[in-house]
Amino acid sequence: MDNIVELKNITKIYGDKVKTQVLFGLNLSIEKGSFNAIIGQSGSGKSTLLNILGTLDRPTDGEIIINGVDTKSMNTNQLAKLRNETLGFIFQFHYLLPEFTALENVLMPYRIMGKKIDDKVMERANELIDLVGLTKVKNNPATQMSGGQQQRTAIARSLMNNPSIILADEPTGNLDSDTTEQIYDLMRQLNKNYNTTSIIITHDQLVEAHTH
Ligand code: ADP
Ligand code: MG
Repeated sequence: MDNIVELKNITKIYGDKVKTQVLFGLNLSIEKGSFNAIIGQSGSGKSTLLNILGTLDRPTDGEIIINGVDTKSMNTNQLAKLRNETLGFIFQFHYLLPEFTALENVLMPYRIMGKKIDDKVMERANELIDLVGLTKVKNNPATQMSGGQQQRTAIARSLMNNPSIILADEPTGNLDSDTTEQIYDLMRQLNKNYNTTSIIITHDQLVEAHTH
């Protein structure tokens, strides 16, 4: 089986004077198309790991290989391009832009590439909106949706550029348990439909039943 992500000997130490070591020579391989969860208690280093995996932060030592490419030698612009085209992010706090509608938020990663939004792109955004069950509220400003709807918008947005990997940091951290189950079901469904590799980090054991 192909590995889409390889972490080799990842170490992370925060701070200069006061050093906090969080990751201690971590090795991890993620299979293409798999649906994964990394479960651990608060403060155990999950966000640190996901930020490094998503190239939002650099490790103190070690290698991150994504799609067979070592990210070590990539500069800031190259990493930004890699993130925009290959990775989809979902966070606990959805980070929707409040002055834009659900549909406009979903289009945002595409807009950031600076390409023209044509009919085909609009069609994809609308398809994703339908898929996550937001057809009726797609023209609502982000602020005028429920927590679950906002997180669904963030999920649709993470898929807009057709990423090969979805990284989710406590995606259901702000949701009740029914909505949490719905969001996990939805993410699993999208993983099946698009063969997107998914990595969810959470302290929530409920996710386990959904994962490979
Ligand atoms: P989790 O996501 O599992 O709750 P984190 O990765 O956020 O854990 O944090 C792991 C540890 O690293 C914690 O002890 C936290 O205080 C520490 N830490 C996280 N970010 C920083 C930072 N920027 N500077 C110093 N310490 C940090
Ligand atoms: Mg965290």
